[in-house]
Amino acid sequence: MASLIVGNWKMYATSIADANILATSIRNYVSHFENTDIVLCPPAMWLIEIRNIIRKGSKISLGAQNVFYEKDGAYTGEISPLMLKDIADYVIVGHSERREYFGETNLDVNEKVIAVLKAGLKPIICVGEKKKNNSASQPYKELKEALEGVPKKYLKDIVVAYEPVWAIGTGENADPEYVARVLTKLRELESRNTMMLYGGSVKSKNIKGYAKRPEINGVLVGGASVRVSEFEKICRSFEEEKAVIFNED
Ligand code: PEP
Repeated sequence: MASLIVGNWKMYATSIADANILATSIRNYVSHFENTDIVLCPPAMWLIEIRNIIRKGSKISLGAQNVFYEKDGAYTGEISPLMLKDIADYVIVGHSERREYFGETNLDVNEKVIAVLKAGLKPIICVGEKKKNNSASQPYKELKEALEGVPKKYLKDIVVAYEPVWAIGTGENADPEYVARVLTKLRELESRNTMMLYGGSVKSKNIKGYAKRPEINGVLVGGASVRVSEFEKICRSFEEEKAVIFNED
């Protein structure tokens, strides 16, 4: 199974020129990757611009950071899955910042997951406990509710990102062994082919620990994904470390 690294630019890269430079640099250094797919999730304003950059001979995919669950209608400011389907491949759903600052509930997340899959896009479903408690119960519950009513045939198109909220943007990353245990529990709800990622203060200095774990198929990187050389180091280390493990098997 190939690895997956998602870069969530959040509301950074606030000018089109910055977004352009960032995407062009990433495109250039990942072009020779053999076993790692990259998904860039820029702010919605730059999706078309970035699509045009990464199309030029690269294997990077594009993701949106959010979407609404209705197809169309009087929903000022929202973006429909139908609008995204010809532009992006993935959509982040249920990010903790959406849950915390915009009041997204598990039910909203579930409706979004279904709408995204129906539109032919792949949801990157984010789940994670708020406080450190050494238990997979909250992410398990969130994922279970996110997948309510989702037909089994869609499970292969889903990406799960376990993102403990206490680790997001705090500099305190979760222990890889612990992450592996949580992902093993979450996989009970998924298919064998579902990509299972970790996210939360991933940096070049801690990435190898995650790459070493076979249960972890990739990472979701926030803040560090808008720093060109840091993101490059993360992607390269992950690709190299997974290749070592693959060759050992
Ligand atoms: C994120 O945005 O999902 C994230 C994991 O952020 P950071 O890498 O900055 O912790």
